[in-house]
Amino acid sequence: MTQDLPSSKYDRQERLSLWDQDIIEDSSILIAGVGGTGSEVAKNLALLGIGSLILVDVDSIEFSNLNRQMLFREEDVGQKKAEIAKKRIEEQYSSSIKIKSYPNTLQNIPQRVFRQSDIIAGCVDNFLARQYLNATAVELNKILIDSATDGYLGQVQYIKPRITACLACDTPPPPNETHVLTAPCTLVGIPREREHCAWKALYEFNTSFGREPVDTSPEDIVELTKIANDFAHEYHFGHFEEKELVQLILFHVPSLITVNAVTSGIQSQEIVKALFLEKKTLMKDAERKTLDRLIEAHRFRIPSFSIYSSLTGTINSFEMIPDPSCLVCSQPITNVSSLLELQVDQNAFLETIINEIRKKNDKEYAGFRGNLFLPNDGIIKDFLSDGDRITLSSLTDDEEIRVQINFQKL
Ligand SMILES: [Zn+2]
Repeated sequence: MTQDLPSSKYDRQERLSLWDQDIIEDSSILIAGVGGTGSEVAKNLALLGIGSLILVDVDSIEFSNLNRQMLFREEDVGQKKAEIAKKRIEEQYSSSIKIKSYPNTLQNIPQRVFRQSDIIAGCVDNFLARQYLNATAVELNKILIDSATDGYLGQVQYIKPRITACLACDTPPPPNETHVLTAPCTLVGIPREREHCAWKALYEFNTSFGREPVDTSPEDIVELTKIANDFAHEYHFGHFEEKELVQLILFHVPSLITVNAVTSGIQSQEIVKALFLEKKTLMKDAERKTLDRLIEAHRFRIPSFSIYSSLTGTINSFEMIPDPSCLVCSQPITNVSSLLELQVDQNAFLETIINEIRKKNDKEYAGFRGNLFLPNDGIIKDFLSDGDRITLSSLTDDEEIRVQINFQKL
C-alpha cells in the first residue's frame, strides 16, 4: 500500500520551482496574537511544514471568537488562546512541529524569545501592542510582517527595519486610529490633547494591574475612567464618561472570517517569500538560481504594503520607504561596541540602572524597552529578563544610551 504514496507529505508544494522545503522546515516564526488572523497564519504555516512556531497571546478564548478562530472549540472558552492553539496544531496539523506558547503580553516576553525567531508575524489588534512589536522588531533588526483587518478591509505590511517603512513611519493611519497615533510619545509627557489623558490612563491601568482592561468588565471601566479623569481634571480637559472611554480605547473593530482568511493567506505567503529571500544563500542551487532569475525579471517582490478590499475584490500594493524623522526606525542599528552591559540585582528597583548611568554622566534619564516606559519604582525582574536591552533617554538633550541588562547570579 504505502509504496504508492509520495515520499513526502509536502510532495505537491515541493514540485514547484523555487520551493525549498528544507528552508521552511529549518525556520521559526513568532506569531504575536493568535486570534482571527493569527490562528489562520499558524494553521497555514503548520500545513506548509514550518519547523517551529512561537505563539504569543495573553487573551483567553471568548464565545464570540468561535465563529472565525478555527483552532478553538466551545469547551475551550475561558482558556488561554496561546496554549489551546499549540495543542490543536499539534493534534490536527503536525505533531513534528516544535511549538512554544506564551500566554503573556508581548511586553512580558523576554527579548531572547524574539531573537530566536527568523521572522515575526504581527497579528495583534490593539494599537499599543502593535507599536511595541514594531519597536522591538526594529530594535532587534528582525523582519516583521504585520497584518490588520477592519470589517471588509485587510492590510499586510512588510517591515524590513530601515529598508522599508515601519509602523511608526509617517504612514496614512486607518481612519479610526488617527487620534491615537500620538500615543507612545504622550505616555510619559504632559497630555497635549484630551485623548492623551485616555492613553495615559490605559498605560497606568496596565502598569498597576499587569494586564489590559476588559471592555465587558464594569469594574475595569470604572477604574479606567477614574484614572483618565484624574489626568483630565489635572490638565483641564473636562470630564470623561465611561462610554466615551470604551469607544476611544477599548473599541473592538468588526471582523469577518473571510477577510481574516484572505489577509492571513497574503501574510503567510509573504512570510514564506521573506524566508526564501533572507535564507537565499542556504537554498539548494537550482532553487536559488530560479529565485535570482525571478528577482532579475521583476517577477518576485515583497510589497511593503498591501491592502485587500473584499467589497471590490482587489488587492492593491505599494512601496513605502522609511521616514527619515521616524522616532523608531531612523536611529542607526545599535553598534555592539556602543552597547553598555550592566550587571544588576534582579530584585532591585529600575531606578538603580538609571542611577548607575547618572553617576557617570551627571544627567537624568528615563528608561524605555521598545516604546514602553520603565517606571523608576518598578522592580527590575517584573519588567525585564536576563539579557534584555533597554534605552536610556536623556531628559536634558538628545542622548540615548543602549544598555544590556545582565542579572547577577543568585
Ligand atoms: Zn519608522
